[in-house]
Amino acid sequence: MTIHNVMSFAAGQWISADDCARDIRSAVTGEVIARAGTSALDTGGMLEFARAKGGPVLRAMTFHQRASMLKKLAAVLDQHKQKLYDISFATGATQKDHLIDIDGGIGTLFVFASKGRREMPDAQIYLDGNIEQLSRNGTFLGQHICTPLQGVAVHINAFNFPVWGMLEKLAPTLLAGVPAIVKPATASCYVTELAVRIMLEADILPEGALQLVSGGLDDLLNRLTHQDMVSFTGSAETALKLRAAPNILENSIRFIAEQDSLNASVLGPDAKPGTPEFDLFVKEVSREMTVKAGQKCTAIRRIVVPEPLVEPAIEALRTALAKVTIGDPSNEATRMGALVSSEQKADVLEKASIIGRDAERVIGDPQNFSIIGADAEAGAFVPPMLFYCADPDQAEHVHTVEAFGPVSTIMPYRDVTHAIELVNKGQGSLVASIITHDTRVAREIALEAGAFHGRLYFNNRDSMKESTGHGSPVPHMVHGGPGRAGGGEELGGVRGVMHYMQRTAIQGSPDILTAITEKWVPGAIEITEDDHPFTRTFQRLSLGETFKTPARQISLEDIEHFAEFTGDTFYAHMDEAAAKRNPFFPGRVAHGYLVLSFAAGLFVHPDEGPVLANTGLDNLRFMKPVTAGDSITVRLSVQHKTPRNADYGEVRWHVAVTNQDNELVAEYELLTMNAYGNVGL
Ligand code: NAP
Repeated sequence: MTIHNVMSFAAGQWISADDCARDIRSAVTGEVIARAGTSALDTGGMLEFARAKGGPVLRAMTFHQRASMLKKLAAVLDQHKQKLYDISFATGATQKDHLIDIDGGIGTLFVFASKGRREMPDAQIYLDGNIEQLSRNGTFLGQHICTPLQGVAVHINAFNFPVWGMLEKLAPTLLAGVPAIVKPATASCYVTELAVRIMLEADILPEGALQLVSGGLDDLLNRLTHQDMVSFTGSAETALKLRAAPNILENSIRFIAEQDSLNASVLGPDAKPGTPEFDLFVKEVSREMTVKAGQKCTAIRRIVVPEPLVEPAIEALRTALAKVTIGDPSNEATRMGALVSSEQKADVLEKASIIGRDAERVIGDPQNFSIIGADAEAGAFVPPMLFYCADPDQAEHVHTVEAFGPVSTIMPYRDVTHAIELVNKGQGSLVASIITHDTRVAREIALEAGAFHGRLYFNNRDSMKESTGHGSPVPHMVHGGPGRAGGGEELGGVRGVMHYMQRTAIQGSPDILTAITEKWVPGAIEITEDDHPFTRTFQRLSLGETFKTPARQISLEDIEHFAEFTGDTFYAHMDEAAAKRNPFFPGRVAHGYLVLSFAAGLFVHPDEGPVLANTGLDNLRFMKPVTAGDSITVRLSVQHKTPRNADYGEVRWHVAVTNQDNELVAEYELLTMNAYGNVGL
């Protein structure tokens, strides 16, 4: 059998493993299948390459351009995923596990591509929040903006998800406009190497955007500056060592850590045997214990159940776990494969024996279990093991020792307050699940356990068919947790992108803010054109261009007509005495919707033209009541333009409605789709 030479990709060159490389063994056969590591790594050169080549090109792109790059990367990986499946069996993973790692990683890229396009601007600056009014007359304003870090993101990953682990960090990094150096865990780095090759050969990424270190990082972390950052996934021990390095501390280098976690799952007091929730709980727990052979940072390590339900829960888990066939992961009959290596097996057995000081093993015997299609001695196989801890208040190890395999401990609780105490004894976790149909229990746990968790997963009969699973971080929601879990946060859609950007508070005049943000700010210079803005194509509209309408007086007949016509005969519009008793109104007032409708009547141009549709209205505020006899006028200003596709783009208009005394009565942002060409003209 040929031994795979796992290469690194540094400064545009593939570099072979050399004499200092480490052997990597198959999780299933124990044979040496690959070697990774090189002494020829020029770490300074790699950082310089990323900073000088990748960074500037990525930063020159807009969020939409980067999002489209992510979509292409996802598509090319999807085309080649069979190759990734084939090579991944040697890590001990089954085909189902591959779906989480490989398809899950590709799906994460797709989600970030779509969020980048829908939730971020087609621009280089991301605006965080709205304009802050810092002065009485609006001549000095504030706005938070985010721009990409000008260094390199170093991604250090754990062995359990060689593809997802890389892509869940790479997607937000590239979307932010920052180049990455990826360092997978050596035990499974041959899978990551293949995924990186597929992406690089597709020639989608700019030079310097992605580099790979297979094997050790050498002195790379010592060379980082404050514009670089580290995103780490792995054990608490390694995280502590790396984040405490003098260079990281001295330069305040951002260090995101995702580390160990003793995640809990709580069976609600209402979820008795015979309820859909009880069956759901057993299914979730047995699945979480055995997927990836329990080598999941989010796996359920502590099973917290009402005291009287301990026995029924153990028996139901015994039945469920007995169906889990263990063996060669490439065999279709296998439900659970091997741990990644014999070292990992030794570690899991040692940790299980420590947990055994507090708890009794009630399911699974590592000395006696059956294996299909593989050699029990050569491969890193262990059975699912369930421990029972009768006194979880006194026990220490069940709440502090993570056996990173199919190992979990069941423990009783007296009432919901006690369940929360036990869950929080994990001292900060990535996730806790609560299986309950009782909404009050859910709220109590959210209030008291929220601060100890990055994610709380509630499931019951109503959501179980569509729920995503206790153990699955989804790209839309944050992944991370306080305390023992590392204090880091990843994913969460656009929130995840922000970790790779600097938030800066910008203060200045409306003109300055308009120029920086490419979004017109009220108070900035207005441009007036002779022709109506609705008659001009998307390209011919300028930021800040303002159209002023003539005035229209509102009569009592208008208000009554509108009330009868729409059916909105609310007393404030119809009953003078009742309206007067209301603290907001001087007497009968016009409907806010009447003001909006009349405003549209004032600014709309009736002819067929480049305005295709009104797609929404944001940030509407009614500032002052309008009464019969008042006259309103409208100022319509081009606030922001976003190209949407080849035919049209979105125009965000700032609309200010004022009365005869020039007082603002309503303000909002109107969204229209405007054609690039002249439709129908
Ligand atoms: P690990 O031994 O801590 O290794 C993690 C990564 O750090 C690997 O890439 C490893 O590379 C690297 N590393 C180790 N020492 C280093 C050093 N001195 N300098 C630079 N890099 C170094 O963890 P693991 O065994 O791969 O993963 C299992 C652990 O990860 C478990 O504790 C699990 O809870 C945790 N985990 C957490 C999450 C999460 O999202 N919170 C996800 C998955 C796993 P080498 O392999 O080359 O040593």
